[in-house]
Amino acid sequence: MSAGEAILPGKTIGVLGGGQLGRMLAQAATRLGYRVHVYEPQANCPAGAVAHQEVNAPYEDTAALTAFAKECDVVTYEFENVPAPPLKAIEAVTLLRPHWSVLETTQNRSREKRWLRDNGFPHAKFAEGTDIAAGIREVGVPCVVKTADFGYDGKGQFKVMTDADIPAAVKKFAGQPVVIEQFIDFACEVSAVVARSPGAAVRVFPIAENIHTNHILDFSIVPARVAPAVIAAAEKLARLIAEKINLVGVMGVELFVTKTGEVLVNELAPRTHNSGHWTLDACMTSQFEQQVRAICGLPLGAVTLLSPVVMVNILGDAWKNGEPKWDALLAQPNVRLHLYGKAGARPGRKMGHFTVTARDADMALEFAEKYKARLAG
Ligand code: ATP
Ligand code: MG
Repeated sequence: MSAGEAILPGKTIGVLGGGQLGRMLAQAATRLGYRVHVYEPQANCPAGAVAHQEVNAPYEDTAALTAFAKECDVVTYEFENVPAPPLKAIEAVTLLRPHWSVLETTQNRSREKRWLRDNGFPHAKFAEGTDIAAGIREVGVPCVVKTADFGYDGKGQFKVMTDADIPAAVKKFAGQPVVIEQFIDFACEVSAVVARSPGAAVRVFPIAENIHTNHILDFSIVPARVAPAVIAAAEKLARLIAEKINLVGVMGVELFVTKTGEVLVNELAPRTHNSGHWTLDACMTSQFEQQVRAICGLPLGAVTLLSPVVMVNILGDAWKNGEPKWDALLAQPNVRLHLYGKAGARPGRKMGHFTVTARDADMALEFAEKYKARLAG
């Protein structure tokens, strides 16, 4: 298969990682008539349940990975912490999209921040390395200390708000490679989901405004309630990043909007993004279908917003009083519910999400907050 030919429906898409992003990708791909194979270390994963085939083996098992890739016409990843080096084996037997180097750059915070700096993208001032105290002195207080590897949902992060917090930070991360970032007292957070095809076509979905609680995404609001200049800056950054990193696929770009309207890049994720789940219910093309189109070299879909919408994450916490009140939620005419089929509702674990559509974003958010509060009973 040459890079220029489209991979048409009927062919097989391989997905590394079996979480909810892989599940929704598999649902979009099978709707378009593709076959989907999932590679995931843990058995009975959310994506495997809706795919044609599930392989359970460690990511470092190059023989298993190669055998898996041989069955696929294109392979992608849904999970940032797939180790990048074994992916080189895949490229020897089939197409890997995005390229492994995109994952390598973005899965480690030090490399990611350096890439942003070296390519001239705006970001919070940072220091890196294993000398925590020196890094904090360099960046200044307040700052946020983050592990360089394997962070998600704010795990492995520590805020240093005053000098009194420094010893605890030094103790927590002793000897570990970290990134220390200036604390941004942002006005809000927004994100862009961008898709780029092998032929270099680029589409950016409407910008989402994101509200995090305890470092985990809680609400995504579309359209984002920010100035048109902020929307334009966010879209432009996403497009330029996709081009510069030579993306083939979909990428989430997380951004901080400062109180003076400056837009800074927080993180990049070379896959679909939680803040793009609203596209399943309120956009002409979903981010998952767009991912299929991009990695298969098909025309990218329209990113027209169909209705103002708010997405609410459903975490394991919603089970604190027993099974959530699904009937009350499903009785609402403007709600769509998505559950990921995960057993074991632990606090902080992403179990599903729902979307609420309304006449405008403020109204959708009002409904969303009300419905969320009622869910746990
Ligand atoms: P996720 O997987 O949810 O994206 P993560 O662990 O990769 O999370 P970040 O995106 O770096 O972590 O941080 C999570 C949240 O913590 C951010 O969305 C933001 O709300 C807050 N945060 C992180 N870095 C900073 C900073 N430098 N200044 C202010 N707030 C920050
Ligand atoms: Mg983040």
